[in-house]
Amino acid sequence: MSFKKILGQKQPIEILQNSIQTQNLAHAYLFFGQGTVGKRTAALEFAKTINCLNPNDQDNCGECLSCEKIQKQIHPDIFFIEPTKTSATAREGFIRIDDIRELQKKIIYLPFEGKYKIVIVDQAEQLNLQAANAFLKSLEEPPKATIFILIASNIYRLIPTILSRCQGVRFNLLTPDLIQQILLAENPEDDPDLLRLKASKANGDLERARENASLNFADFRENALNLINEISFKRMDLTFKFAREWKKRSAEIPEMLDEMSYILRDLAIIKLGCSKEDIFNVDLFESLKSTAEKKQLRSLNKMFEATIESKTDLKSNLNAQLTLESMLIKFCEAS
Ligand SMILES: [Zn+2]
Repeated sequence: MSFKKILGQKQPIEILQNSIQTQNLAHAYLFFGQGTVGKRTAALEFAKTINCLNPNDQDNCGECLSCEKIQKQIHPDIFFIEPTKTSATAREGFIRIDDIRELQKKIIYLPFEGKYKIVIVDQAEQLNLQAANAFLKSLEEPPKATIFILIASNIYRLIPTILSRCQGVRFNLLTPDLIQQILLAENPEDDPDLLRLKASKANGDLERARENASLNFADFRENALNLINEISFKRMDLTFKFAREWKKRSAEIPEMLDEMSYILRDLAIIKLGCSKEDIFNVDLFESLKSTAEKKQLRSLNKMFEATIESKTDLKSNLNAQLTLESMLIKFCEAS
C-alpha cells in the first residue's frame, strides 16, 4: 500500500505530500468529508510516509520495519483513538475523557523509534464534550514531535476551538466509476454490471457500496418489477399476496422500496428515450424496456411518487404494513 493506492483523492493527497516535501508539517490535521472514501487509509499512509526509513518521492516504501509496524498497528509511536460503545446495544460509541487522559500520559515522551509520534483520532466527531475539552489542551500545547490526525465525516459536530487548531484536508465523495473499479478489483469474479449498480446506489461511499453487495438485490428487484408489470384493480389478489409476503419481511421493506423507486425511475427514463447508459439497472435493460413499452409515462410517474411517499412515511415511523398497502392502492389507481 502507498498513497498511490488511494483512488479519487488526488487533491488531499497532494496537500499532504506537499507538506512533507516542504517540511511544513502541521501539528494537527483534520481529514474530513462524508462517507468511507479513504480518509483512514490516507491517515495511515501519511503516518507511514513521515516515519518511513526509505521514503521515495513523498511516499512510503511499505516494506521497511517502520512501515510494517504501522500497517499492523503495533508501532510504539503511532496511537489510535476511536469511539467505543458502553454496551453492545448502544446506538453510537463515544471517545471519552479517560481515553484522552490515557493518551496524554503516553505522548509526553519523545518518539521511541520514529521521527514523529502520530495520533490518529478516528470519528473525531464522537469526542464527547469533556473529552473534546481535554483533547484541546494537547492541541493547544502539542508535545514535541507529535502530529495529530483527526478524521471526521461530520465536522459540524466538532467544537469550533478544535476545528480552529487543525489544518483541514477535505476528502471527496467517490464517483460511481471509481467505486465500480474498486469493487471490481476486490471481487474480480463478480458481474461488472451488477457492481456498477451497487456503485451507483452508494452515494459516493465505498463502505455503503460494499454493504450493498450483501443485500439481496436480485430478489427485491424481481419482486418490484413483477408487481409493476401485473398490478391493477382487476388483479387485487396480487396486491394482497404482495402485501402478505412483505408483512413477513417488514425489516426489508425500505430496501425493497429503494429498488422499486430505482426501477420506476429507469422505466420512466427509458420511456423518455434514454439509453442503457443512463439507467441504474443496466443488467435488466431488456426486460425493463418491454415493461416500459406497456406502461404510460403518467402512470409510471404516479407509481414513483407513491413509492417516494411511502419511503418518507416509513422514515417517520409509520406502520410498514399500512404504508405498503396504501402504496399498492395508489399503484392500482395509476395502472
Ligand atoms: Zn517504509
